[in-house]
Amino acid sequence: MIAQALRPADFEECLHVIDDKASGVQGVIAIHSMARGPAAGGCRFWHYDSPAAMHADAVRLARGMSYKNAMADLPFGGGKAVLRRPTGSFDRATVFRVFADAVAALDGAYITAEDVGTSIADMKAVRERTRYVAGLEPRPGKAGGDPSPWTALGIFESMKATTRFALGSELKGLTVAVQGTGNVGMHLCRLLADAGAKLIVADVDRHRVEQVTLALGARAVSVEEIIGVEADVFAPCALGGVLDAASIPRLRARIVCGGANNQLATESDGQMLLDRGITYAPDYVVNAGGIINVAAEYLGETPGQVHERVRKIPDRLQVILARAAAVGEPTNIIADGLARQIIADARPVPIHA
Ligand code: NAD
Repeated sequence: MIAQALRPADFEECLHVIDDKASGVQGVIAIHSMARGPAAGGCRFWHYDSPAAMHADAVRLARGMSYKNAMADLPFGGGKAVLRRPTGSFDRATVFRVFADAVAALDGAYITAEDVGTSIADMKAVRERTRYVAGLEPRPGKAGGDPSPWTALGIFESMKATTRFALGSELKGLTVAVQGTGNVGMHLCRLLADAGAKLIVADVDRHRVEQVTLALGARAVSVEEIIGVEADVFAPCALGGVLDAASIPRLRARIVCGGANNQLATESDGQMLLDRGITYAPDYVVNAGGIINVAAEYLGETPGQVHERVRKIPDRLQVILARAAAVGEPTNIIADGLARQIIADARPVPIHA
């Protein structure tokens, strides 16, 4: 049930507010742009102190999805749903029933999937009430399932392009410091080890670290140390906001290229990296493999088509790196400008899912 629609400043579309008095379910579906097609982006289920904090997060995330989808050349605009996780007990089935009905009411303007705090089971529940959902189990011969191997492949290919660009070197023999050896980090470590890179890893979960050290001969360091270790590349694959005024001066790597979303705490941190001579591969450009896989599932594409799209990620990155170097501007600013231009030039492609 959608209570009202609001329009933030730089949005082409609206925020649709979910406020279901009967169940108490609160949330928002933010649609930033539909210039390239229906707005696609996951559903986050998270604690927020206030509706205003929830709206602000949805606005930031929906804008980010517009940029990511545009840069990945997907026929989708950008959107995101955020649901407010109650502090006390709650009925999960009711939350996702109310959410599914809100998605259905938008009649295809927004397509949802998993994000932080939501699962395949939640999306299956949503699928019972609307077809505008992805992130379900894959059908035989079709794309779908765990997106993290695709995310890792896009980062790996991007890292190869970045080391060639910034260091004139292949990955073989270089040292990569990987922060977070979860789904994306572990797949990335395997690809890097196969390519002959040396690995330094850290994770708050000791078992995950042991897996990488035993299987791939990686060197483990503490979570406090990983940002400042002597390495050629720093690959953030855990949390957002890891690059800020406190951490950037500690970096000894010459390249940052990893999977975490929103790695820069603020836009100006890109300038700080540039000032230190560190080449930053913008997060949403290099980690688009996951959304490419989710989009392919929705479109009924094959794993081969996902592979083709993921292989193109470093081409776009190279354009950004070259343009940034030519004008002496931070890569995050160049990437955002390019994404806005792609959206402005868009001709929506009809989708038959
Ligand atoms: P995950 O939860 O499987 O892995 C994250 C890992 O980081 C965990 O092992 C966790 O223990 C570790 N970690 C948490 N705090 C840490 C810290 N302070 N220092 C070191 N390690 C820490 O998640 P994931 O799916 O691998 O995603 C990793 C990042 O990539 C997230 O930021 C996610 O938003 C982003 N991302 C993931 C995908 C995907 O396909 N899964 C796609 C795009 C972006």
